[in-house]
Amino acid sequence: MRLKVYRYLFALLIFTGAQSIPTMALATILVVGHQNPDTDAIASAIAAAHLKTALGSPAQARAQGKPNAETRFVLKRFGFDAPLIQHHYAGHDVILVDHSDEQLAPEDINKARIVGIYDHHKLGGIRSKEPLEIVTKPWGSTATVLQEIFVQKNIPIPPPLAGLMLSAILSDTRTFVSPTTTPQDRLAARVLADIAGIDDMNALGQQMLQAYNEEMQQLDEATLVGLDMKIFNMGSFKIGVTQIETLDASMLTPRWPLLQKEILKFQKTQNLDGVVMAITDLQRGGSTLFAVGPQAGRIQKALKLDDPDAGTWKPDLFSRKRQLIPALELAFSE
Ligand code: MN
Ligand code: MN
Repeated sequence: MRLKVYRYLFALLIFTGAQSIPTMALATILVVGHQNPDTDAIASAIAAAHLKTALGSPAQARAQGKPNAETRFVLKRFGFDAPLIQHHYAGHDVILVDHSDEQLAPEDINKARIVGIYDHHKLGGIRSKEPLEIVTKPWGSTATVLQEIFVQKNIPIPPPLAGLMLSAILSDTRTFVSPTTTPQDRLAARVLADIAGIDDMNALGQQMLQAYNEEMQQLDEATLVGLDMKIFNMGSFKIGVTQIETLDASMLTPRWPLLQKEILKFQKTQNLDGVVMAITDLQRGGSTLFAVGPQAGRIQKALKLDDPDAGTWKPDLFSRKRQLIPALELAFSE
């Protein structure tokens, strides 16, 4: 009998002991990229989670949506699972990567504790309740920003992670073709390629683009329009900007009328003041732009679109972030 009591007390002790462990441990930080995640958003979440964990703050990557075909290709190539999809972050410690725009962050981000931001975009209106670490640079990708931090903190990058971070740089800079490319991106890419044992970065970039383009052929127009849509608050207006990157945009020419129809539908159902679609042709070197919505006129003027119906070809236009958003923000702040 007495033995039973002791056994019970012992079990209780173990049980309560075990219970108390989670409260003593540090809360896990959740690292998440922007809505409609691209390769940089997902790779940087994985890389930043690795970095923070190595520095003694346990962290896990999350995503606000499914990875696209390009991202799935590189995750598989370097042996990673896609991060868990999570939409709600209230009460969690959160690090944002690859964005600081409220519109692109999780909808309940104001109920989370933002402990860090790693980014390479303009500051986008996120507010924090407490002091936090922010590292943002005018470079081609968030992975480039993180690569430098790994070096500064003397944290080794495992070869598979180096491959994934390299992929993010190649994705965001379109293998150094995009005007967002900086010398720092080329440097970081070379270092990461060395670690990952990749001799031909261009071949990897080409394979990634192929994966993205193959998926594009199979997607319907509504999905294509939403695939890389970002919605911005500009002045008192809500403007959507979507970009479809192709190796050869002529593959979309037959689908142009349906794409235009879907973009109009998107603008109406989302109640946006305007939507811009950019179809980028990487081989020809530029983008065809098209705008709809009540503010289409203002957009056309800001971007100098002289063929509003058929779309206007803009040579050397590759970057939403560098070339489209600043012109639109200027027009809508006036
Ligand atoms: Mn991104
Ligand atoms: Mn990025």
